[in-house]
Amino acid sequence: MTDQNTPQNSPQSETFSDRPLRFSIPGRSARGRAVRIEDSLADILSAHVYPPAVEALLTEAVTLTALLGSLLKDVGGELTMQANQGQGAVTLLVCDYRDGELRGYAQYDEAKVAELPPEPSLFGLFGQGYLAITFDRRTQNKDEPGGRYQGIVPLEGASLAEACEYYFAQSEQIPTLIRTARGVVDGRPVAGGFLIQHLAEGEEGRERLHVRLDHPEWEHLRALAETVKPEELGHPGLPLEELVWRLFHEEQEVRIEQGTMLRKGCRCDPDHIRSVIGRFPAEERRAMADDDGAIKVDCEFCSRQFPISLVSLEN
Ligand SMILES: [Zn+2]
Repeated sequence: MTDQNTPQNSPQSETFSDRPLRFSIPGRSARGRAVRIEDSLADILSAHVYPPAVEALLTEAVTLTALLGSLLKDVGGELTMQANQGQGAVTLLVCDYRDGELRGYAQYDEAKVAELPPEPSLFGLFGQGYLAITFDRRTQNKDEPGGRYQGIVPLEGASLAEACEYYFAQSEQIPTLIRTARGVVDGRPVAGGFLIQHLAEGEEGRERLHVRLDHPEWEHLRALAETVKPEELGHPGLPLEELVWRLFHEEQEVRIEQGTMLRKGCRCDPDHIRSVIGRFPAEERRAMADDDGAIKVDCEFCSRQFPISLVSLEN
């Protein structure tokens, strides 16, 4: 044990809600993230009145979006998670992350959701569904793969977290453990997430020559990481440094760094919407407008409607 991995006690070094904590264990070629979301989550959930099963699903999806998004290192990078399934109780689930901004919403069939058991499986929620995870990396580093990369995995496991683990194993060949938890504290929703990955020789790129899901270092870290408890993940008063410390305090060195603050954000700016609609030919715009001469554009992320009058577009 060295001073390097002792959490400092000054208030600014402690990370609580709506800010991911990045950590790495250099001696074991591992990196991880821990996050707890409160205000950002409440803002996202408040846009709609969701049935409990859908709210639970969206909460897990937003938590995972915060975790996976915090893996992006460069400004402007984006992470999107989307599940579409026309036949299921949940017909659309979409979340994304960009520079600390999180948003997400779900569409569902009310009658089918009403028939779900209290703890529905992913199959119960989606039927035969798929989860698309898209990383859009805006890397400035020439040694790192940049650009847009999408992986699609079946929604088959017990949870979305499991589907994300499968994504990393299949699409990126990176052994990954992910845990999430959610609850209600003082009447407000709170959720927590934890991710740890084993990287090839400390590299963080996608290209790997050898993949060993049974690497002894990974088995060791996995065994430690699996002891994380849902009540630790979802406990707003427990600093994330303390959570990481409890799991890995016997490691020679654990490096920690605070990530970008998280907040609910959206891109439904009226000026932007107006400029997008303004690019349509006048005839098409008239066809889109209602009897009052306004084109109504919905933002489902925010549950807001933006009426754009045809007259205002003509100048
Ligand atoms: Zn919006």
